[in-house]
This record gives sequence, C-alpha cells and structure tokens, in this order.
Amino acid sequence: MDPAPRPNALKSMGHRLSLTKLRRALSGRKKKLQEIQEPDEPYQTTPTTTKPEEGQEEEEGGEEGEDDDDDMNEGNTVIGLLGGGQLGRMLCEAANPLGIDIAILDEHNAPAKQAHNTNRHVVGSFKDPGRIKELAARSDYLSVEIEHVDTEVLEDIEKNGVPVEINGEIVTHRPPIHPSWRTLRLIQDKYLQKEHFKSSGKTIPIAEQIAIESGDAALDSLKKAGKQFGFPFMLKARKGSYDGRGNFKVDSEDDFAEAIKALGTLPLYAEKWAPFVKELAVMVIRTEDSDGKLKNCVAYPAVETIHEDSICTKVFMPPRDVSEDICEKARKLATEVISTLWGRGVFAVEMFLLEDASLMINEVAPRPHNSGHYTIEAVPYMSQYKAQLHAVLDLPVPDKLIPRVQSSIMLNILGGAKPDSHHHLSGLARSTYDDDMDVYLHLYNKESKPSRKIGHITLTGFCSVQELEAKAKPFIDLVDQIRLDRLEATSETLRPTQETNGSAKPAEKAPVEPATDNHVEAQELSAEAASSDKPLVLVTMGSDSDLPVLKAGLDILKEFNVPYALDITSAHRTPKYMMKVADEAAGKGIKVIIAAAGGAAHLPGMISSETPLPVIGVPVKATHLDGIDSLLSIVQMPRGVPTATVGINNSTNAALLAIRILGAFVPEYQQAMKKYQVDMEEAVIVKGTKLREGGDAAYLAGMKK
Ligand code: ADP
Ligand code: MG
Repeated sequence: MDPAPRPNALKSMGHRLSLTKLRRALSGRKKKLQEIQEPDEPYQTTPTTTKPEEGQEEEEGGEEGEDDDDDMNEGNTVIGLLGGGQLGRMLCEAANPLGIDIAILDEHNAPAKQAHNTNRHVVGSFKDPGRIKELAARSDYLSVEIEHVDTEVLEDIEKNGVPVEINGEIVTHRPPIHPSWRTLRLIQDKYLQKEHFKSSGKTIPIAEQIAIESGDAALDSLKKAGKQFGFPFMLKARKGSYDGRGNFKVDSEDDFAEAIKALGTLPLYAEKWAPFVKELAVMVIRTEDSDGKLKNCVAYPAVETIHEDSICTKVFMPPRDVSEDICEKARKLATEVISTLWGRGVFAVEMFLLEDASLMINEVAPRPHNSGHYTIEAVPYMSQYKAQLHAVLDLPVPDKLIPRVQSSIMLNILGGAKPDSHHHLSGLARSTYDDDMDVYLHLYNKESKPSRKIGHITLTGFCSVQELEAKAKPFIDLVDQIRLDRLEATSETLRPTQETNGSAKPAEKAPVEPATDNHVEAQELSAEAASSDKPLVLVTMGSDSDLPVLKAGLDILKEFNVPYALDITSAHRTPKYMMKVADEAAGKGIKVIIAAAGGAAHLPGMISSETPLPVIGVPVKATHLDGIDSLLSIVQMPRGVPTATVGINNSTNAALLAIRILGAFVPEYQQAMKKYQVDMEEAVIVKGTKLREGGDAAYLAGMKK
C-alpha cells in the first residue's frame, strides 16, 4: 500500500529521516514484544515496522533525496489526535486501510486506541499542555476529535513549534494544525461563534442573542432577555456544553432562580426561542492550501436530526417531508457558514428549519459529528472520517458528495437503565438480513451508562426514507423502549454510588454480548466484576496523613478506570472499626485491599488477618527511622497471614499490583496492564535512542528544559 505523502513542513526541515528512524526502532521493538506476548493476536504491520538488519544501519548525513525515497516507502504520515472517544475510533477505522497513522492522546485503552494498533499513542489528558506538546513532537499533523481543548497550547505550537531532537541537534518541529486553533477557539464560545457569523459579511441567519452578566447582575440580564425575547427563551452556557448539558429552557420569570442555580457559575448567554419544525444538519468538507487560502467547501446531503432529552437519537437521510429545494438551501447555507472559518477538515452545521420554511443556524462542530455517522455506509467512498483524513492531509476530496444509497437512518445506541439494556437491540442488528434494508452495527467498546453514547446502528435502503423507516420499525421501537425504561428508572440507579471515589468507570471493556464458547468463563467473571460501578479495590490508611503518599497510587487506579473506595481505619485508634471493614470487604464486592500505614504499621497485617482477600501493604515513611520501621512491621508477618509489601511510600506499585490481581480474572485489566508495560518499555527505548543518537551533552541539555 502506498503511504500517504509526508508533509512538506517536515520535508523541508529534513526531519523525515530521523523521525522515521525513531519510529522504526519503536516499531521493530513493538513487533518483537507482540510476538512474545500476544502470539495469537494479529498484529498490523506497517511499513515502519522493518527493523534495519545488523550492520545495515542507515548512514547519517546521506543525500536527502535518498532518504526521502526510503522514507516514502517506510513512513506512514502521522496525525496526532487530541481525544480518543468514538469519533477518534471511527477516524482510526478509516485510517487503517489508508496507510495513515493516528497517534491518540487520551487515557489508556480509550475507544480509539483499541481500534488502531500503533506505538505512537500518548497516555494522558488532551487538556494537558505537556502531553499535547509530546503528541505534537510525534506527529506530522495535529487534529482534534473534540473542540473543548486548550487552544493556547495549539497556538503556541503553531507559532513556536516543539523541540525535536534530530541527530543530536534540537530542531523546531511545527506540525500543521487542522482545523485551525482560531476556529476551535471561536467555536468553543457559542456566543462569539454566532456573533462571528453575524458579522462575517455573509447572510447567515442566527437566533437573536444577548450575553448574560455574571454574579449579582445575572438576574437583571435575564429580565432583559425575557423582555427582549419573550418566553420561552434558551439560556445557554457559552462554553463546554454538549448533549444539551449547558442549556436551560426558561419558560417564565419564575424559572430565573432555578436557571441561575443550574448554570449561574458559568459564563452564559440567552438565545431567542427558535420555533423550529425540524432540526437539520449538514456536514461540510473544508479544504485550503498550505497558505491558509480557502480551496473549497463541499457539502454532504442534508439530514434530519431528532433530539430527545437534548441528545441526538436518530438521523434521517434525506430529511422526512422536507423538499429538495430546502435541502439544497441547507447545503448552500452550510458551505457559506464553514467558508467563514479557518483550517481544513470536516465540520457539522446544525440548523433549525422554521415554520416559514426558512433556515437558522444553531451551531457548528469543527470535527466529524454524530449526524455524519451515516456516511460510513451511505457515502462509502468518502465517509466523513475518510474526508477528515483527506482534508487534514490535503489529499484530494471530491467536489460533490452523492450517497450510494437512496435513504439511510442512523440510530444511536444510548446506555439504558441497566448495563445490558441495549443487548436486545444490538442482537437484532446482528441477526437482521433483509433484501431491502442493510443493517450496520457499530459498538464503541464503552461501558454502558444511562444516556451514554455507546454505539450506533446505520440502516440503508434503496427506497424512500419513509419506506425505510417502516422497515426499521422494530429497531426504532427498541430504541424508544430503551429510552422509556431509562426515564422510568429510579434516580438512584442513574447515579454512581457515593462510596465510589475517583472514576466510577471500570476499565473499558468489551460489551457483554453473547459469549463465544472459549470465552464464557472469562466473560462472565469480567461482566460480574466490571459491569457495576461498585468499588473493586479498597484503599485504606491508618491516618489521613498517609493520603498524600497514596495519591500516586490513586492516580494509577483512576488511569486504569478501576473503581475504588477510600477509608481511614487506624489499627490502634479505631481497631473495632478496622476489623469490621476488613470483615465486610469481600461481601461488598471488593477484590483487593491496599492498606497504608507508618511507624508501628499494624494496619495491613491486621486487615489481612480478618479478610480472605489479598492485602497489599504500603509502608509509609513516618517522622523517624525513614520508614524502615513501617516496612519491617508490614513485611514480617507470621506464616499463614500473607501481606504483600511494596517499597516505602511506593503506592504506585501497590496500585499496579492490585490491577494485576484484578487482571487475573478481568481480561480488560490484563490487556490494559500489558499496554502499560509496553508503553513503559517504549518510553525507555525512546530515551535510549535519543541518548545514543544525540550524545550525553544534548541529552543533558534537553533534561534541563
Ligand atoms: P449542544 O451543544 O448540547 O448540542 P445546542 O445549543 O445545540 O447544544 O442545543 C441542544 C438542542 O436544544 C438543540 O439541538 C435544539 O433541540 C435545542 N435548542 C437549542 N437552542 C434552541 C433555541 N434557541 N430554541 C429552541 N430550541 C433550541
Ligand atoms: Mg448541538
């Protein structure tokens, strides 16, 4: 397969050889690891996995042209992606056959990481400036799957670049960022976004809006909005909202107090109510040249989106009972809107169709969008994901986007009242084969939580959208039933338990679908252990002064999405309570106990004497004796009362050991642990390569930064 062309930015800087060499070292190593650890799992080799034979290392300082040729054969273009949820996952699925690598910045085992096997991923938050720069250093281009990112860092990267070490020299690397951070920054603030459309010089209809003052002045602002717009009107958070979470419908002055209570701490604006008859959306591909000059805006077909409980639940292509003329107007308007922005990529334009058949822009999303999922099957030669890749990399995109089917319906699979509420629906999608309707199931491998987007189903047909809707009735009925059950479920079911601290989310796991024969046991155990939000690890300490020492371990548990509970159980001051906690832990579903104590550290051993669960002791360095007292108190347990003991203050290892124990019966934790180990190894290899290539002086200089 021909790799996608490499960016000119790197070419001109002569980085290609060195980045490729680094990648090659990593890929070769990864392949070796895979062979040892996962002999049964297919490993997608890419051209970069070839390790140079011994004695055939590339010569330094060769002709640039030679390097280029070699590189063209071996190096995939890397797009660094901030965020690794389902949009990133589907982007990766589109990238896999195209010879494009996606480096994901997100937590371990994020849905996108599961779908794309590369050693380029970065573990961490896509809001962490340090991690974003790390991603930039590994990537030829940068893009996002979510607009709520730190645009200051992206601006900094575009203007100042990031240091990359090439042959012992630190050079500046500037991966092009698409869409532009300017667009992201504008779109983050819904109020400014629409002010921009208003003042763009184009005819872009938007709802009247006014900014709402903060603090005590908010009430007067709301009164002003009520007077200007009448009721109802929409109060919206300017930033950070999604799935309707930042919106409050204000029906009368009586709602003001509640609205301020709900959203008052955020910067707000008020929007005149849009009496729409339908909501429409249009995806647009925006291309521009490397100087930022707009090349083209190409619109996909208009679709009808249905929102229930403020979440998009269904998408119809074409919109039902909407004339072709209006659909064309919607596409034209969407291209106008997107032409006012900056950067390349796909964009979603959400709009309202009003009673008088006019259109009004609601908002723009600068990325692939729920309303464009249908394109995977309906416009297979250029789905919104493939379009995102082509646009970002400035590869050719068509100048018209005609679907290959007559109609399509996308149904979101939202988490129901119970973790398995959607199984019937996914089962129906799996088992339906119909001459007149094709059914495509997409599961994102996310834990099911009420209202969470965990998958979608696309239905396509060669009939009218109404006929397709009639055929799809069993699916639509099930989607509606899941929603009704969810709404009926008690609020208790919908909230995580109070005793669960940190992330209430077990490790991303395969959806608990009908198990295949050889996986029945593991699936059942896994489901039992991971399907609830109940804590699996109890982290307890002799005193709250031990908490800072435990912080590193708690961070690891969070990183692996292990639900845990916290407690203080002093062996000397609250011995009865400590024994009660130890006695009841197993019955509460706890699988491992981490106990930290300092000085005469009896806690781990005493807990161990009262529970059948594995107990890991963390010796805490107390004021005197450097923690040796704690260590010996914990490690010197009498025969019959085993208490695993980690190094002094080493709560990291306690957490990792707890996860390994969980991994013995929950495959997802074991997978995540394997990945953790591979990442750790790769980090050392990167350092070694850097040191070997650059020498000690450059390395030390880099360390000082
Ligand atoms: P989100 O960022 O959560 O998608 P939106 O601003 O798009 O927030 O609003 C979510 C939904 O709320 C819209 O899809 C629409 O159904 C409804 N809505 C938003 N603004 C208005 C408005 N001005 N008038 C009527 N309904 C609105
Ligand atoms: Mg919206």
